[in-house]
Amino acid sequence: MTTRTLYRNARIFTADGPDLAEALVVDGERLAHVGSEAAALEVLSGSDFAEVDLGGAFVMPGFVDAHTHLVMMGETMQKVALRDAGTLAEIQLRLKEAVAADPGAPRILGSGWLFSAIPGGTPTAEMIDAVVPDRPVYLDANDLHSVWVNKAALAEMGIDKDTPNPLGGIIERDPETGEATGLLHETAMHQYAWPTLASLTSDAERDAQLATAFEHYLSTGVTSTIDMALGEDELAAMLRALEAGGGTLPLRINAHWLVAPSEDHEKNLAQVARAAALSRSVNTPWLRVVGIKIIADGVIDGCTAAMKEPYSDGSNADLIWAPEYLNPVVAAADAEGLQVAIHAIGDLASEVALDAFEHANAVNGPRDRRHRIEHMETVTPESIERLARLGIVASMQPVHADPAVQENWRAMLGDERVERAYPWTEFTDAGAVLALGSDAPTAPHPPLPNMYIATTRKSALEPSLPANLPKYALDLASALSHATRDAAFSCRREHELGLLAPGMLADFVVLDTDPFAAGVDSLLSSSVVLTVVGGDVKFRK
Ligand SMILES: [Zn+2]
Repeated sequence: MTTRTLYRNARIFTADGPDLAEALVVDGERLAHVGSEAAALEVLSGSDFAEVDLGGAFVMPGFVDAHTHLVMMGETMQKVALRDAGTLAEIQLRLKEAVAADPGAPRILGSGWLFSAIPGGTPTAEMIDAVVPDRPVYLDANDLHSVWVNKAALAEMGIDKDTPNPLGGIIERDPETGEATGLLHETAMHQYAWPTLASLTSDAERDAQLATAFEHYLSTGVTSTIDMALGEDELAAMLRALEAGGGTLPLRINAHWLVAPSEDHEKNLAQVARAAALSRSVNTPWLRVVGIKIIADGVIDGCTAAMKEPYSDGSNADLIWAPEYLNPVVAAADAEGLQVAIHAIGDLASEVALDAFEHANAVNGPRDRRHRIEHMETVTPESIERLARLGIVASMQPVHADPAVQENWRAMLGDERVERAYPWTEFTDAGAVLALGSDAPTAPHPPLPNMYIATTRKSALEPSLPANLPKYALDLASALSHATRDAAFSCRREHELGLLAPGMLADFVVLDTDPFAAGVDSLLSSSVVLTVVGGDVKFRK
């Protein structure tokens, strides 16, 4: 049996220089050749091989989604979709329809609603109870940093007017009565809604959610992922999938262990120790724990991102992790050789994250470290310079800059800060590595529309909208490289993932349209025809 395959008659973007190759040779799970067809035949001479004529199709490295949440993505795909519900009436209609479609459902779960769809931007339990009063309803905000619930859900979670706000979270309340009004932010969602729902989810359901995520990723060209909030339940599902696959998975997962904030240093450090142990015990080419994740602040839409100056309504948000708790955790993870990923959307949060990284450098001395900051939707020019100097990876998500989801975001800031939103090219100009991802399910996961936004700053949802600060658009080759080669760098796997060259893992995708020839608008209509991971065809259209 031959294990070598020649893929010929292709236009191959390697993410390793500007020239397109025309053939590649897969030998087992790796690439034996990438270049001309004549040279490929020389490599193959004297032995059997299979041959695939790609008919002039476009080939590129498999996408590496630098920031995602796999299990939650699969789960979200099973929820009532609300991202394109533009009004409260439309949201209520979809909830009613969900009940009508499954009258016996014990609870209704929805996802993706936008603050701009709600009158006054403040959702309440009554708004849901007006259509579904008889069972719990949980609706994730589009950014997954808030959950909107009805009265039955508040009761199911055991939240009443005496329930305190957890550290780093807010339970919205009636100013007169103190009763919860149906909106939970940040750790209030993590500590009440998520565990309640997790306790109601079976292993089989979670396995099905993970399988759904794998399937959707492979069919859209993603061959590797960086999972950004791993917990015990998600890890258990991934380990079951690994076992079911005989030590392999449909695609590769590199995961960051979520560290929940506590004012007890020992509790925080115990979570770092758990991540360090997992980084040693879960370390295969398909699944590995690479570091920790810290959520240092919230999001602009909910005014929970920590800003240097207040929001347009005069409010501001506290950091979820004060430096006195953040710094020891980052230093401990750094000392263990773990990668640290810090979610920082507000310009204050990224400053504090950089302080923590500098503190770790000082405490632990020189070492091979590859830390990262997630999102940085608003960031000062000084922080960008500092990030580049410290060698921190900028992990950003073009889908979050989609003009269709900017209205509330811009209104919350309301001043000149909106003119420096999502400044991707400022990072690359400063010499930082930029890794692109989707943050699914807070945004759509398919990488080709994500690359359309990256290269145009226009909306993949409503392409007729004006571009969002086109000065920050990336050229196509750069965008594709940030979503493959640089995303691989962000999880320390640039030696084997993210570009097509001899010796690299044979992870690549074939598209039906060459975006360099057809133009970037084709990214909205082209599709993946073949996805190969580790030399195996994992998806075929
Ligand atoms: Zn995320």
